[in-house]
Amino acid sequence: MNNKRTPPPPVLPPSININENFCLLHKGDIQGEIYTCPGCKTKYCMKCAEKAKNEAKLCVKCKHLILI
Ligand SMILES: [Zn+2]
Ligand SMILES: [Zn+2]
Repeated sequence: MNNKRTPPPPVLPPSININENFCLLHKGDIQGEIYTCPGCKTKYCMKCAEKAKNEAKLCVKCKHLILI
């Protein structure tokens, strides 16, 4: 008899489903025009980016100025 022990399969961490079209400003799917941060290439809705700019907010990820 083959008495070799088979190692348990490696437990993979749950894959985080990064949605490319996820806006970090309103925490939902990007709708309409897309604004891309020049610093980190994170995508936001153009509307959210405009709002953030008016409120003198920065990129959530890299704190880059919102340049529209
Ligand atoms: Zn950024
Ligand atoms: Zn948004």
